[in-house]
Amino acid sequence: MCYLALSEFQCTVQLAGCNFSCRGCFSPARVEVGRDVSVESIVERIPVGRRVVIAGGEPTLQVDELLELLFLLRGRRVILSTNGYFLSDRVVGGLSGSKVHVDLKAYTDSIHREYTGWSNLPVLEAIERLHRYSVDFEVETVLIPGVVDSPEIERVAEFLSSISRNISLRIIRYVPVNGFSRRPTEKELEKAVALAQKHLACVTTSAEVKSHPVRSVKIFFE
Ligand code: SF4
Repeated sequence: MCYLALSEFQCTVQLAGCNFSCRGCFSPARVEVGRDVSVESIVERIPVGRRVVIAGGEPTLQVDELLELLFLLRGRRVILSTNGYFLSDRVVGGLSGSKVHVDLKAYTDSIHREYTGWSNLPVLEAIERLHRYSVDFEVETVLIPGVVDSPEIERVAEFLSSISRNISLRIIRYVPVNGFSRRPTEKELEKAVALAQKHLACVTTSAEVKSHPVRSVKIFFE
């Protein structure tokens, strides 16, 4: 467990550890930080009435604890944010009304392997699975100049449309860290959106959808 981030309208449960090694990652939760805590003690500290985002790191690495957390949070507004690699039938079957934000870093496997260190095949299968189980989900792909450019965004959109034209794709503008790549220009973002819209009915960007709280307080478990 890393920490809880509380804002006016949202509580983010930030779990530690990730199987991917994304070259542009800036999450402090990517590595094993914090300490083990019970699922009950997490739930006790989540204020009633706020949307709950379960993020990381990669939350599905701790599958038993994740399923217990989802069970204890049933009936509340929950978003699971995941890299999709371990979204098995068991996990998807336990989502019970939750929404999923699943990353598809790249459609071309060589680009995915180069960027994350892992194949994207399980992620592609997970997206098909989410659709088959009628889960409320959206796919997120980060536009990273020189790594994931607009032609690759179009390939992602083409893949999604092969499952359903109605799958939502959110294109995220990369925020540079440690000198890795740069922030895409408005023009580059517009081009990526236009290419994705040739295949999908719903394409949004990180500029339009601001789900991250502006101010939040972090609660660490002693
Ligand atoms: S999947 Fe997310 S947390 Fe994991 S390395 Fe990639 S960007 Fe970082």
